[in-house]
Amino acid sequence: MGFFKVYARALGLLKPDRAVASGLALLALACAALQFLEPVLFGRVIDLLSRGSGQSTLGVLLVWGAAGLAGIGCNAAIALLSDRMAHRNRLAVMQRYYQHVLAMPPAFHGDTQSGRLMKVMQVGADSLSGLWLSFFRDHLVTALAVGILLPMSLVLNWRLGLLLVGLVVLFCTVAGFVISRTHERQAEVEELHSRLAGNAQDALSNILVVQSFARLQAESRLFGGIVRQVLERQMPVLNWWAALSIMTRSASTLCVMAIFALGAWLNGRGLASLGEIVSFMGFALLLIGRLEGLVGFVARLVLQKPALEELFAVIDTESTVPDRPQALAMGRVRGEVRFEDVGFSYPNAHPAIAAVSFTAEAGRSIALVGHTGAGKSTAMALLQRLWDPSAGRITIDGLDLRDMTLESLRQNIGVVFQDNLLFNRSIRENLLVGRPEATQEEIEQACRMAEAHDFILRQPQGYDTPVGERGVALSGGQKQRLAIARALLKNPPILILDEATSALDAATEARVQKALKALMAGRTTFIIAHRLSTIREADEILVFESGRVVERGDFDSLVHRGGTFAELVRSQMPAPLALVA
Ligand code: ADP
Repeated sequence: MGFFKVYARALGLLKPDRAVASGLALLALACAALQFLEPVLFGRVIDLLSRGSGQSTLGVLLVWGAAGLAGIGCNAAIALLSDRMAHRNRLAVMQRYYQHVLAMPPAFHGDTQSGRLMKVMQVGADSLSGLWLSFFRDHLVTALAVGILLPMSLVLNWRLGLLLVGLVVLFCTVAGFVISRTHERQAEVEELHSRLAGNAQDALSNILVVQSFARLQAESRLFGGIVRQVLERQMPVLNWWAALSIMTRSASTLCVMAIFALGAWLNGRGLASLGEIVSFMGFALLLIGRLEGLVGFVARLVLQKPALEELFAVIDTESTVPDRPQALAMGRVRGEVRFEDVGFSYPNAHPAIAAVSFTAEAGRSIALVGHTGAGKSTAMALLQRLWDPSAGRITIDGLDLRDMTLESLRQNIGVVFQDNLLFNRSIRENLLVGRPEATQEEIEQACRMAEAHDFILRQPQGYDTPVGERGVALSGGQKQRLAIARALLKNPPILILDEATSALDAATEARVQKALKALMAGRTTFIIAHRLSTIREADEILVFESGRVVERGDFDSLVHRGGTFAELVRSQMPAPLALVA
């Protein structure tokens, strides 16, 4: 994205505040005009004094005072209004970004670390806010001042005016050159900054691994390595901007001296009055001050441009599973699920599943079994429309998933994950994720069915006990029963159970199984089964191998068939049970 494009897009975000922005533009115009007036009035006073007309001088001084006061008023109003507008819109952009990122499918989140997403949001929003403030407080006035000052100064005295035009051209040329030399390098710096944030987040969220594998030194070294690269690329950029600052300083001194010399020469020939020379000195100083401010801002924007581009890039990322314009908002479905010749490959990977077909009648339970990597989770990811199939189609009650809104599809599906993630909030708040409007009575009923009520009451603050980050304060079995209660509250017609791989003790296991039974009643249920003992009662078992369904049937018939499933059973079950089976 070009430099001005980024700038224009950042300003375009203020569209909802159009009225305030227009008011600010008018105030900026008034400010610029008043600024122009000051050196002119100063020159007039000098001319009048040198002619000895004291009476008129007083009048000009009064106008000058009034202009000064009006200028202060305008500046105060600009400061106040622009500050409020920047704050409002900064938060609005953060909210929009957050909503967008939350709605993105796992395909997006898998590629992007959350630390990086946070950094992009914070740095991007801060840069935007800074940019808006500088625009309304300074740049607009600068642009208008240059636009008014230069033509007017040519009217006042074109010879001296041309000198000012030269000054502005020189400024812009030099600044343009430095921008072109630095902005690509700064993009690299920003990329490294993002990697820094991503790495730190990765290490912090895996702090137990870092510490138990004695990775402290290695992680610090990794961080240090990136820091060194940041500095290596940042220094030349800073050098360029320091050079520009020196150049602009010398240019301004030379310009003032040139006005003085040319003014004196013109004055000797009666082509410029003393007052005009003073006015032009005032113009020059004003312009230099403003342009210096602008160059400082451009330097900052060059530094911030990559951060803004990253922010825009995230906002512009489109979902891989967008809603079709005519997508139906489904109510509660019956729950008949059909896979018709479904195939899918992850980006840049071999097909994860191919030609998978089956029908799950409403209310029936289907178990998906097979070795790790066989495609069970992928099939269930497609059912939740985390991805769209690359071949075939999946229907619920006869309607293609792609023809219903994502929101209504997900309302109809409940998932109990393998590792049940909980928010770092109270038990009650975690349960309400299932149905925000549930009453305490409903919550307790769900928890009783999920065998969770008793252990919750034993917690220090009952339902108000915080569960700790990712639920660390609870045991595996407790977390699972909470997750089951959460799904019961949601009460979806279709259920996906990703069975926990970690073994629970027998008593807990029995409780969890009882809770699951309560949850499954009357729902179309898919169980990604890791322990075959838990799927004896499934209506149908689908055996996955290398992305294909190679066997199907109920437990006993599959065991008698003596194929892949029978082998799985033999390898997993204690001998007596396998023999019985
Ligand atoms: P299962 O649930 O049976 O263990 P998966 O559905 O997770 O199997 O995996 C099926 C295949 O897809 C495997 O080869 C796996 O490596 C691949 N796979 C799974 N998730 C991804 C992903 N996010 N990106 C790329 N490949 C993936």
